[in-house]
Amino acid sequence: MEIIHTIDAMHDAIKKERTNNKRIGFVATMGYLHQGHLSLIHICKQHTDFQVMSIFVNKMQFNDPRDYDTYPRNYDRDFALAKEAGVDLIFLPDDSEMYQNRLTYIDIEMMTSFLCGSARPGHFRGVLTVVAKLFNIVQPDVSVFGQKDIQQAVIIQKMVKDLNFPLAIIVAPIIRESDGLAMSSRNVHLKGDDRTNATCMYQSLKKAEELIQHGIIQANTIIPAMTDIIAAGKPKKIDYISIVDYETLQPVDSLKDKSVIAVAAFFGTTRLIDNMIVEKIGDSFTCVY
Ligand code: AMP
Repeated sequence: MEIIHTIDAMHDAIKKERTNNKRIGFVATMGYLHQGHLSLIHICKQHTDFQVMSIFVNKMQFNDPRDYDTYPRNYDRDFALAKEAGVDLIFLPDDSEMYQNRLTYIDIEMMTSFLCGSARPGHFRGVLTVVAKLFNIVQPDVSVFGQKDIQQAVIIQKMVKDLNFPLAIIVAPIIRESDGLAMSSRNVHLKGDDRTNATCMYQSLKKAEELIQHGIIQANTIIPAMTDIIAAGKPKKIDYISIVDYETLQPVDSLKDKSVIAVAAFFGTTRLIDNMIVEKIGDSFTCVY
């Protein structure tokens, strides 16, 4: 497994693989890898011949400097896990390599100013800008993003479509701990009861699924039931519990053809997110979470 730090060296490495007719797969991460990240590589391997993973804690997407400073990092551990998962190349740039004299940015204001965007102003502008840069640096045929960060996955799909990036995006299932908590690099910050209580996020999605299977599809019934379950987990703050259209991310009154039920809450100082995709197939609804 090769580790590359510069954009020029990346372009050379990718050119070489392309002359060997390799299809390039790409997974963007901020490191501190867990099984969720590695599952994206496994999916990528099913579609491509050469796996690139980036590890870059992207300052531009952190609205809170303390969150950036305390974001967990352990590159040696990441290298070992990535190698074991079959990554061929790691792109590990530093800030100056990525952001010298940067003035250009990408945003989709109509889709980024609410849900996670309202609690984290500028976050998705940072995400879209770095992902666009990474796509130009890695030039992948396929890139896999996790459903775990559903707003991110949806806006990246929109950017790729609107700006004609020549690649396919795959959205991969959420990998969870055995008690249902969605895996996240930030879970390491959960202390004491917060770790156990945080499973209420998952429980609230299960409750929503139960209601939906009983034919309840109105947001004004599903959201209060979920709120009760999350409140019982004693979060420091519930950020949002929303039901939105999958394509536009706009709130809906009742479940449509494809919707997302998304939750965000603070446990201690740690902000956690989770979600479920609800798709109408024929007369019934399928929940994926
Ligand atoms: P991050 O390092 O948190 O920026 O995440 C990098 C990629 O891994 C993103 O596409 C995330 O959506 C994805 N990811 C993070 N956690 C999980 C998870 N528990 N299951 C599946 N994918 C995940």
